[in-house]
Amino acid sequence: MAVNKKDVLVFIKAFKEKMKEHRQYLTDLDQAIGDGDHGINMDRGMKAVGEKLPAVEDKNIDDILKAVGMTLVSTVGGASGPLYGTAFMRAGMKMKGKETLEAADISEMFEAAIGGIISRGKATTGEKTMLDAIVPAKEAYNKAIAEGKSITEALTISEQAAWDGVEYTKTIIATKGRASYLGERSIGHQDPGATSISYLIQAGKEAAEQA
Ligand code: ADP
Ligand code: MG
Repeated sequence: MAVNKKDVLVFIKAFKEKMKEHRQYLTDLDQAIGDGDHGINMDRGMKAVGEKLPAVEDKNIDDILKAVGMTLVSTVGGASGPLYGTAFMRAGMKMKGKETLEAADISEMFEAAIGGIISRGKATTGEKTMLDAIVPAKEAYNKAIAEGKSITEALTISEQAAWDGVEYTKTIIATKGRASYLGERSIGHQDPGATSISYLIQAGKEAAEQA
C-alpha cells in the first residue's frame, strides 16, 4: 500500500481538527511549564492552513507540504510555529516530484522533519521537547517497516512510541524553550510540544487507516 495526495490532505485536515479539539488541553499543559499558548498557537496555525488548502490542493504533495509549513511559520508567533513549519517544509522538499509515497518515503519525511526541528531549535532528545516524541516515533516506524509491517500498522506502533515519549518527558528537566526557565520544577509535567506531535502522528495513522 502506498499513500497518495488525497491521503496527505486527509492527514493535514485530521491534524487541524485535532488541534482544534485539544486546543485547551495543550494550552493547559503549556500553562504549567510555559506561557500557556501552545494550543492557541497550534490551533491558529492549523486553522490558517485549512484556509490555505483549497488554493494548493491541486498541486503536488511536496508543494502542499511546503505550503503547510510556510503558513505555520507565518501565522504562529510561538516557538512551535517555526519548528513545525520547518518540519513540514523539509518533509515537503524531500518529497519533490513524488505522486505516491511508499513506506520508505514516510521514513524519509520523518527524518527530514526531525532534521528541520533540530536545525531550527538546536535541541536534542532528552531536553523535554517535541523531539522526545518524534524521534522515538520515527525509530518505531522504521523498525516496524523493517519487520514487514504495513504503513498503517507501523504508524500505529509509531504513535504509541510518541505517547511513550510524552510520558518520558514527565521524568526529565527542560533545558530548551520556555520550560527551561523552570529547571527542576519542570519535572512531573509533560511537554506540550511532544503532546501535539503525538496527535500529528495519530492524524497520520488515521489517514493511513482510511487510505
Ligand atoms: P512558545 O514556547 O514560544 O510559547 P509554544 O508554546 O507554541 O511556543 O511551543 C512550546 C513547545 O515547543 C515546547 O513544548 C517544546 O516541545 C517545543 N520547543 C520549544 N523549544 C524547542 C527547541 N529548541 N527545540 C525543539 N522543540 C522546542
Ligand atoms: Mg508557549
